[in-house]
Amino acid sequence: MIDQHTHTVYSPDASKEATFENYLTLLNQKKVKAITFTDHLDFDCPVPLFNQVPDFISFKRRLHKAQESTETLLQMGVELGYQPHVLEAMKQLVATHPFDTVLLSVHYIDGLDPYGGEFFKDKTLTQSYQRYFETVLEGIKTFDGFHILAHLDYIFRYSLEKTDAVDLTPFYPVLDAIFEALITKNKVLELNTSPYRKDYQNKTPNLDIIKRYFEKGGGDLHCLMRIIPKMSGPILISS
Ligand SMILES: [Zn+2]
Repeated sequence: MIDQHTHTVYSPDASKEATFENYLTLLNQKKVKAITFTDHLDFDCPVPLFNQVPDFISFKRRLHKAQESTETLLQMGVELGYQPHVLEAMKQLVATHPFDTVLLSVHYIDGLDPYGGEFFKDKTLTQSYQRYFETVLEGIKTFDGFHILAHLDYIFRYSLEKTDAVDLTPFYPVLDAIFEALITKNKVLELNTSPYRKDYQNKTPNLDIIKRYFEKGGGDLHCLMRIIPKMSGPILISS
């Protein structure tokens, strides 16, 4: 089990502590086998802070240098944000960069940011969630250049209190379509570790969503139940 969703200072929202040097210290201490750094890239991002393309040439150079002082395999990935109008830019990026892992994320929907609450205006929560999941499904269907679907129910982070539960029943049709599309395309669903590290009651994805994904053919549920208890360790600086 290796972590394939981590952020360094190349992501504008990452901790200032998330330098290669600090990662190396931790990775060496904990004798981690491998790690993938997946900094953010959201083309035409509605939030100016994130509207920048990391300098992957400098990134790769620094990664190579860092590799000299660790046994941990250091891999270069990217967390690529889907919006329908940037699909060509996404395809172009993955065709021209040697990423070990590409995470597909949906951070913005219809040009709106859920983080600030803008996306939830003029909609019920059910409509908001449905629209979010539809956008995720569209991303999976139209973009092939990814390996892992990141934080599937990210939308809940900004609409729920930490202890709230959500009735998933209305969303099972779209969730099932997401699982089917992932499985058919041989892509996988991410188990995001940050809620385990932060001890949030709501995991990402929600445990019922993960179970349903496994029941629909995403993997061996018994294997999952062995993995989850191991996910609480504070391995990472920023994910
Ligand atoms: Zn993300």
